[in-house]
Amino acid sequence: MLVMKFGGTSVGDAAAIRATAVLIQQARQGWQDVVVVVSAMGSQPLKVTDLLLQGAEVAAETWRPEAANQQPPISRLDHSVSQLRAIHAAAAHSLLDAAGERPALLAEIDAILGRYEGLCRAGRVLGELTPRALDAIAGMGEQISARLVAAYLRQVGVPAQAVDATELIVTDDRFGAATPLWPETEARVAERIRPLLAAGIMPIVTGFIGATQTGVPTTLGRGGSDFSAAILGRTLQADEVWIWTDVDGVKTADPRLVADTQTIPQLTYREVAELAYYGAKVLHPQTIRPCLEGGIPLRVKNTFNPEHPGTLIVPDAATSNGVGLKAVTAVKDLSLITVAGKGMLGVPGMAMRAFGAVAQTQAHVLLISQASSEQSICFATQAKVAQPVLDRLAHEFAPELQRRDLDGITAQQDVAIVTVVGKGLQRQPTLAGQVLTALGQRQVNVVAMAQGATDCSLSLVVQGGDTETAVAGIHHLLVGNGNGYAAL
Ligand code: ASP
Ligand code: MG
Repeated sequence: MLVMKFGGTSVGDAAAIRATAVLIQQARQGWQDVVVVVSAMGSQPLKVTDLLLQGAEVAAETWRPEAANQQPPISRLDHSVSQLRAIHAAAAHSLLDAAGERPALLAEIDAILGRYEGLCRAGRVLGELTPRALDAIAGMGEQISARLVAAYLRQVGVPAQAVDATELIVTDDRFGAATPLWPETEARVAERIRPLLAAGIMPIVTGFIGATQTGVPTTLGRGGSDFSAAILGRTLQADEVWIWTDVDGVKTADPRLVADTQTIPQLTYREVAELAYYGAKVLHPQTIRPCLEGGIPLRVKNTFNPEHPGTLIVPDAATSNGVGLKAVTAVKDLSLITVAGKGMLGVPGMAMRAFGAVAQTQAHVLLISQASSEQSICFATQAKVAQPVLDRLAHEFAPELQRRDLDGITAQQDVAIVTVVGKGLQRQPTLAGQVLTALGQRQVNVVAMAQGATDCSLSLVVQGGDTETAVAGIHHLLVGNGNGYAAL
């Protein structure tokens, strides 16, 4: 069994959906069962999920008529609705026969967008939309795209049926970032998907969404359709999961930061998890775990260049280029917060209190570093949460600050974490040195560093303005001087 997920651009317009249907038909030749997961239509610059959420924003908006060039919120909502209708209707008109699937699909689009408008207007009256309402809204793009793709497949002779993942993926009620409940999900998937497959019908499942045990719609977080595919792969014990996107697999660096990037032929689950966490936008970070636990190989491929083998993600790959480093990523717009003082020496519980205080602000900690002298701890958070974190820490350590046991709690603004990933870091002792030398040669100061929690990544904190130089310098180690995959 193969589970294939098609991202927003792969179903972005009629032409992309035609190409996607060809890929689905080809997969049908080679595999006994194929399950398809789709994202909402996502052609730039208008991603359907963004449009849905933009329309919903008017709910909480106060409109000041004196703000001359601003439209009243409701007419902006009307604009979103008509854009959403236009995008989907254009695809339906281009793809579906007027005497066949088209009228029913247009009616479904109208019904879904009617519910959308109703929810947004209700929110406007109430003056807010709850996270619960926003999840119901955000998932409507997938509901339409799954129906559209299924209708087109039927028209070209593939028995297919759209399935809302609200019937399959049972989650907790953390709206906006729900977590699947595995036993319940497994039971639902078996009950709903197996009979379709047995009857020769291909399920076209909505990515991104699920529902609580009582049926309230949830989402798995932005970009969550990858995770949906992994969840289905795991619960159906698929042989492989393929993620179809608009690039040739996972790249050695972000092509917006570096010119000569290459596709990485093979990565391990661990490596790709580090990459996804540290800013590479290829896969939703949660995608890895179900595949890892199910031992399911994961492939990332390009809908617009299907001949390219893409990237294969497996339990343990050979370090396939000369230097044993595979990719470099950057996360920008961070602050590095330092809690320092001679009074911290040998006092148990300081780290616990510091991170307890941070946790109370709900801030994410992206990197931690403490020297064994125990006189300071530093950690990176997103810049936008730095102030609340500082306030909370000052409150927590008020007595120590007053006694001068702590010298201060400070934030270094505008830093970035540059992470280099590769299993080789564990096996080749000279690699970390080469990375630091590459930065030194380019006059990049390393503000903090962390390695050890995982054996396949090294993270360096640099000043925001040095990000590009640092990434390019490390990337040169990966692919320059005859290193890299092209040279193999
Ligand atoms: N459509 C959703 C989003 O834009 C989920 C996805 O594309 O994976 O976040
Ligand atoms: Mg995505």
